[in-house]
Amino acid sequence: MQGSSMGGTNRYDKKIKALSVFLMLAAMTLAGGSFSSAKGAEPGPVPVIVIDPGHGGNDTGVTGPGGTKEKNLTLGLAKILAATFSPAFSTVLTRTGDYQLPLTQRASAANTHHGDLFISLHTGGSRRHEANRWSVFYFAPPDHGSRLQSTAKTKQPIKKEMPGPGPAWEQVSLRHQQQSRAFAQHLKTRLELLGEIPGITVMPAALRVLEGLDMPAIVMETGYLTHRETETLLNDPVFLKKMATQIKKSVERFLAK
Ligand SMILES: [Zn+2]
Repeated sequence: MQGSSMGGTNRYDKKIKALSVFLMLAAMTLAGGSFSSAKGAEPGPVPVIVIDPGHGGNDTGVTGPGGTKEKNLTLGLAKILAATFSPAFSTVLTRTGDYQLPLTQRASAANTHHGDLFISLHTGGSRRHEANRWSVFYFAPPDHGSRLQSTAKTKQPIKKEMPGPGPAWEQVSLRHQQQSRAFAQHLKTRLELLGEIPGITVMPAALRVLEGLDMPAIVMETGYLTHRETETLLNDPVFLKKMATQIKKSVERFLAK
């Protein structure tokens, strides 16, 4: 009796559960369907911003005095940016996890997605722990390479031998140099409004990561991770969110032109 009654209740519960699971799945399918069709449709009026988290995998980038790794910071910031940009902009992350990714693949992903803007995220580093500098770099041909002083690991001057057909990679990137510089200036203005960071240097640089990108593109170096206070700041989610909001405003300003 007890058993049968319990069994009956169980069957009833199961039906209710089955129904709610069905409804939930249907709702998820619908939501998923509309989401993917919105994503699948041509970009339309929503600009595509490609965010490139520097380094990854065995390539850890700079390590701070407190043990923070540049590769983790850049990925974390990329995700905050993607969340902040949505739904105004569609975002593409060149790297979504902790793995190594060649620079050429980052550029080709950006070009494949027809990005309107490419933002590569890095931090600087120095053996002098008091050193700290925030910079925004835009592409320049190799003869500007001598102006570059920091983080030689990822920012080797571009070599002359450019493989592949079509226009030289240099020329592809050069087409967007003025626009890239314009965006870098907007970014500088907005980031300086944060008030918590030193002035920002905007400069041309022959950076491999900017090579071959068929869109305005910059490398943002969010201070020196080897600088203890900067390391603390870059681990502060409140600061990161404020910074992401300012970056979004600079993108809006740039695209509104
Ligand atoms: Zn880096």
